[in-house]
Amino acid sequence: MGKYDGKVALVTGGTRGIGLAIVERLASEGANVALLGRSPEGSQTAANFIAEKYGVKTLGLAGDVALPATADDAVAQCLQAFEKIDILVNNAGITRDNLLMRMKEEEWDAVLQTNLKSVFNMCKVAVRPMMKAHYGRIINISSVVGICGNAGQTNYAAAKAGIIGFSKSLAKEIASRNITVNVIAPGMVDTDMTAALPEATRQAFLQNVPLARIGQPQDIAAGVSFLASDDASYITGHILEIDGGLCI
Ligand code: NAD
Repeated sequence: MGKYDGKVALVTGGTRGIGLAIVERLASEGANVALLGRSPEGSQTAANFIAEKYGVKTLGLAGDVALPATADDAVAQCLQAFEKIDILVNNAGITRDNLLMRMKEEEWDAVLQTNLKSVFNMCKVAVRPMMKAHYGRIINISSVVGICGNAGQTNYAAAKAGIIGFSKSLAKEIASRNITVNVIAPGMVDTDMTAALPEATRQAFLQNVPLARIGQPQDIAAGVSFLASDDASYITGHILEIDGGLCI
């Protein structure tokens, strides 16, 4: 018996990196999983891989999370396939780093829309079936940068801080329906997103991590597995920092 047997999870950005690790963790604990990525091929490949490896039902979804129509379609398809959504993980995100003086309006808009508006889009649609079911677990992936700030990331920090305010407010709105809304704020995690950083930047960052290692996607997935579980049923509006102590 897995912890999530019979449960259904929808994970945005579930095709690689942290999102794929979350999908793997929940599937390994018995959940049927819908995962949303940008390309239909990428999503289907990941969905097939997970179904084969863990013997659960999966659904590959594709679209741009910045668009409300993507959220409408993803939730509708998930309900059609699985009849419910127990766990929603808003993980999809991008960076477009630049110093403010050089930051283009497109860089600001792309990051705010992909990282923050997507959370509004997905929650707005997914909350409806959760309210009917009187059950739900929403976990939004922010960043320590949304708490501490980071030079060169005003757009990203604003979006990630926005997720925190959004989640605390939504937690208060829907707690009476037994739906919890929590945030995970990862530190630096070893994925394609951070692979692009120069080695010197990574090393400088690591010097400020008391646990002295870069995080792995599985470290974040473990936090999701906890916050989605019955053990976390009395936790809502919380920010779980998983950062090796970076933001202490
Ligand atoms: P990644 O680039 O490896 O993966 C991002 C995922 O999001 C991919 O599956 C991609 O297809 C999806 N995605 C991006 N834009 C999308 C869009 N418009 N529509 C649909 N899907 C889209 O990134 P990652 O490192 O795994 O990061 C995952 C989340 O964790 C992000 O929200 C990121 O901001 C956050 N985070 C990452 C780190 C880190 O160090 N890697 C640290 C803190 C927070």
